[in-house]
Amino acid sequence: MKVIVVGAGYAGTYAANRLAKKVKAAEITVINPRPDFVERIRLHQRVAGTAAAAKPLTSMLRDGITSRVATVDKIGDGVLTLGDGTSADFDYAFLAVGSTVTPLPETVPVGTWEGAEQGRAALAALPAGSTVTVIGGGPTGIETASEVAAARPDVRVRLVGPSVADCFSHEALRRVRAGLARLAVDIVDDGVTSVTGGGVHLRSGTALASDLTLWAIISGVPDLAARSGLEVNSEGRAIVDEYLRSVTDDRIFAVGDCAAVPGARMACQSAEPQAAHAADNLARLVEGHKPRPFTPRYLALGVSLGRKDAVAQFTHLDDTLRRAYIAGRTAAVVKEGACRGATFGARAAIGA
Ligand SMILES: Cc1cc2nc3c(=O)[nH]c(=O)nc-3n(C[C@H](O)[C@H](O)[C@H](O)COP(=O)(O)OP(=O)(O)OC[C@H]3O[C@@H](n4cnc5c(N)ncnc54)[C@H](O)[C@@H]3O)c2cc1C
Repeated sequence: MKVIVVGAGYAGTYAANRLAKKVKAAEITVINPRPDFVERIRLHQRVAGTAAAAKPLTSMLRDGITSRVATVDKIGDGVLTLGDGTSADFDYAFLAVGSTVTPLPETVPVGTWEGAEQGRAALAALPAGSTVTVIGGGPTGIETASEVAAARPDVRVRLVGPSVADCFSHEALRRVRAGLARLAVDIVDDGVTSVTGGGVHLRSGTALASDLTLWAIISGVPDLAARSGLEVNSEGRAIVDEYLRSVTDDRIFAVGDCAAVPGARMACQSAEPQAAHAADNLARLVEGHKPRPFTPRYLALGVSLGRKDAVAQFTHLDDTLRRAYIAGRTAAVVKEGACRGATFGARAAIGA
């Protein structure tokens, strides 16, 4: 049985390793544009120079799994076409191409490897007294602004978004904003309309001077599913059945950020359980059993605030917020453990 995994992020790597463990006869090939496994949840650290955020993909895959550096252009009908024009056939595939960014011109995106590299070089070259603007008031923006502020106390950092930290409940939001203030991050609660000539233009009409402007919003998914004729939702995410198979082609499992799984947010906390479940479902099919429906389950919503502070708010299983949260050094240790666990989990492929 030939299985191809498209994309070697958290979901793809987890799915490949899990399947290799469960179905010894499977011939598994992982296709990824880079020879590295990018720890995407550490890309803000890459920008700030506090983590490498990548390791050789081969070190992340179990023995027997083949990896191929390429980009998939089209997938369907048991065949996929690669960027170099060659094709490969499969019995089953996992679509795990993650999500992407649509940065405003003159901004540097944090959410891709190439953007993070560009951001790292630009930040390293900034003299003391410069101003860094981070656009995006969600978890990625908060983590980026605080990581840069902690690593470069000699530059001024501001975080701009229409409602910074409003993904948290009132008390946790106040603690996140207090943590940002402690790191001397200026919070600007406003939307950005454009960035031109080093000026960040706000909806309110104000223009702010900025020496480096980082785009910290994850906003879309690669168009591979749509381009291949798989049914997608309005965001371009592949629509799946309750077993995580594309509703257009049941040989294709879609997992992680690129899959439209009802009730799931874009997070490692979503990607890895989906990957485990989809791999287990394929193993069940191979053994002649019925696949099992997937239900997303959550534990917490967390942000790091540099390396020494964090806020982690507990959630109900359905991802609605509980009141309780932890903050400070304990939360920072928990958050770091979660980041390490995400990479370890993808390699070890334990649990379901
Ligand atoms: C700075 C930052 C901090 C974050 N922090 C957290 C956090 O603390 N907790 C959390 O849960 N989530 C966090 N996230 C979100 C998290 O990174 C994503 O939800 C997660 O990476 C999704 O995993 P994935 O495997 O679906 O996609 P990805 O990890 O993005 O992997 C997708 C892979 O597919 C490859 N690919 C793309 N197109 C193709 C193609 N055509 N052919 C072949 N391969 C392709 C990509 O190159 C990539 O290797 C953060 C994100 C960012 C940017």
